[in-house]
Amino acid sequence: MEYADMLLLRFGEFTLKGKNRSRFEKTVLRHVKEMIKPFPKVTLSKEFGRIYVQLNGEPAVELIDVLRNVFGIASISPVKVSLSDFDDILSVSQNVLRIAAPPAGTTFKVNVRRVWKGFSFGSIEMNKLISTPLLQSYPGLLVDVKSPQMELRIEIREGHTYIFCENIAGVGGFPLGTNGKAMLLLSGGIDSPVAGWSSMRRGLEVECVHFYSFPYTSELARQKVVDLTRVLSQYAGVIKLHLVPFTEVQTSFTGIGQDNLIITLMRRAMLKIATRLAEREGALALVTGESLGQVASQTLSSMNVIGRATPLPLLRPLVMMDKSEIVELSKTVGTYNLSILPYEDCCTLFVPKSPTTNPNLRIVDKIEATLPGYGALLDAAVAGTETVTITPYGDEKPSDVVQAQAGLQEEWF
Ligand code: ATP
Ligand code: MG
Repeated sequence: MEYADMLLLRFGEFTLKGKNRSRFEKTVLRHVKEMIKPFPKVTLSKEFGRIYVQLNGEPAVELIDVLRNVFGIASISPVKVSLSDFDDILSVSQNVLRIAAPPAGTTFKVNVRRVWKGFSFGSIEMNKLISTPLLQSYPGLLVDVKSPQMELRIEIREGHTYIFCENIAGVGGFPLGTNGKAMLLLSGGIDSPVAGWSSMRRGLEVECVHFYSFPYTSELARQKVVDLTRVLSQYAGVIKLHLVPFTEVQTSFTGIGQDNLIITLMRRAMLKIATRLAEREGALALVTGESLGQVASQTLSSMNVIGRATPLPLLRPLVMMDKSEIVELSKTVGTYNLSILPYEDCCTLFVPKSPTTNPNLRIVDKIEATLPGYGALLDAAVAGTETVTITPYGDEKPSDVVQAQAGLQEEWF
């Protein structure tokens, strides 16, 4: 027997937010639709607080793996569907229990909900009529009606009855994009992809901005960022990636005789450029993978001076996390193995032996104000930015510009 005929998806915490609920639920539904595209036989229906995913023969386990990552879904139950007929309900219940194979000593209860009042037995009566034969077949089960380890839920509807006992945790959070849009500064490292995932989980739509310094950084480093964005797009349907040529800006800092400030200047330049892209794309915040104290540029004093380069809210989802926690999360998200590939990031170039941990804002401001042609360099970086739309199942190269994908983008958003 198949493991499940249908998946029942339950919405998460946002259901509390009264008037936004219907918009949020529609967003989750749209996200689910995008994620089930590789499973053409699946059909969907929505009910208050739930989405039903009819499998029609598509593989339940693979779909659960995909759908548990949809933001806003709190839990998933694989459901067996029977006719609304006593004998069929009992026989399917036996099967569900056989598949779940609870070990001896598991505490157990049957919980019947008679949604269709035309069914001949009431809920309480059904609890007894179903649990008695089940307990006979599984003598190791112990009844506990208050807080059982396993609850066999039976929902009797007109025509069909849903039977399930498993509750698989979903990723939760807010539906994608329901809290606005932000630009994620995405390096090839471990932290920023995790920061991106955390932002998306809070309902932010994310566009990625990556700075590369060709020819000092290789094509492989750029492809790595495309691949990281693709992993993130598995949570989002599609994601825009902006690739910013950073060589000119970066090399302009090397001749000023203030090597210990190069990282500070570079980070500020990134924020300034990202802010311009944010304005162009209608994003209201920037996101980085910074974590307090991790490196010289992430001391409080550095963050203060760097953060002042943008008027936008600068979100740092990982700011208080330990590296080990971030690493764990990156494994769960699925970016870790890509992040540890050894390609150069532009920030590891021209890096001084002793970057300052305590930059002086006045000096930094003055350098930027007097650096010849600095404004024009930033303009040129923005103008030279390429945009690629990355899809979960595609194989885009950085040269596939956004126009080619415009149709997809519209379909999703
Ligand atoms: P990560 O693992 O994300 O690279 P990190 O701990 O290595 O972070 P840094 O390299 O100091 O920290 O970078 C701090 C943040 O600056 C990154 O998390 C990222 O948001 C941003 N950043 C750094 N390099 C780039 C880049 N080449 N393109 C875009 N953003 C970058
Ligand atoms: Mg880094």
